[in-house]
Amino acid sequence: MLLVWDENAWQDYLWWQAQDRRVLKRINLLLADIQRQYRLTYLFIAHDLSVVEYLSDRVGVMYLGKMAELASSEDLYAEPLHPYTKALLAAVPELGVAPPPLQGEPASPLSVPSGCAFHPRCPLAIPTCSEVELDVPLERLHVGAGALPDGDIRRVACIRAREL
Ligand code: SF4
Repeated sequence: MLLVWDENAWQDYLWWQAQDRRVLKRINLLLADIQRQYRLTYLFIAHDLSVVEYLSDRVGVMYLGKMAELASSEDLYAEPLHPYTKALLAAVPELGVAPPPLQGEPASPLSVPSGCAFHPRCPLAIPTCSEVELDVPLERLHVGAGALPDGDIRRVACIRAREL
């Protein structure tokens, strides 16, 4: 059975995260127990990567409706590969990652940029990234320690992923 947690369902969790980390740890253990007992799959939807770290086996990062990176939680937080994932993690002060220069605002979903949709904001963009016909695949990369729970490996949608 799949249990979906959207941003509204997070509100109490976020409150405890701000108030008391020990209580938060107990909540995490309780959620894990319930998950095991009822054989549940949790799907968490969040804009803040810091809140899903301890609750997720696998994390998918989306930009303008497309998957930018998919990895085990262990790999994603230890070594983010996609420039957007790096920027998101840099926005979490307690992770202490130096923020890359992220330009501008997200584009409107009604007017998605050509090529890689992230190119207008990407500090690593090269001219090829904006080519109209560019379809950036969610490429499988053998990087990092953790295989995903279903045996898949991490995937990154970036034509420069192998250089990162
Ligand atoms: S494809 Fe280009 S613009 Fe997109 S994330 Fe990679 S380097 Fe940045």
